[in-house]
Amino acid sequence: MNDQAVFADFTRIGKRLFTEHLVGGNFGNMSARTDDGYFITRTGSYLDADPAQIVLMPLNGRVTPGASSEWRVHTAIYNAAGTHAAIVHAHPAHAVALSLLVEDEIFTIDSEGKMLAPTIAVVDGAPGTQELADAIAGALKSSNIVIARGHGTFAAGKDLDQAYLFTSLAEHCCKILHYTKLYQK
Ligand SMILES: [Zn+2]
Repeated sequence: MNDQAVFADFTRIGKRLFTEHLVGGNFGNMSARTDDGYFITRTGSYLDADPAQIVLMPLNGRVTPGASSEWRVHTAIYNAAGTHAAIVHAHPAHAVALSLLVEDEIFTIDSEGKMLAPTIAVVDGAPGTQELADAIAGALKSSNIVIARGHGTFAAGKDLDQAYLFTSLAEHCCKILHYTKLYQK
């Protein structure tokens, strides 16, 4: 995939994240692996913004000025020797709310969830810290989706589409858990 096609994916997936209320304001970030490192959205940029809001980061820990403040998470995931080639970080309300009520895992109950993400790990760590980056990278070694408690989802996959789909799936699973609890009352 050439760079222009990757940039087009950023804008397209960014728009979907907004449309589905998976992220609001200028929150969240996305990245995609490339030969020289990875492309990542700028700190404070809108996820549906144009390609001028994307910067190239190396994987050796050097920081490109303007890169998302969550770059540590992205670097840790790509360096974890997994197969993930793209990452979507969003703030879906139901997933974030439920993460505050469970210990370290959410057990999905709908058919889609049970098939694709039977359990979703919930990890701790303050935003921007190496502790959070390591916890997320560890959880994503064997899965596509994890939730940073009280903060948001980090989804990874072979491309931005797959990372977006797992973000959407996690929020859907958490909505179903929420509604089933409501209906039981
Ligand atoms: Zn965030």
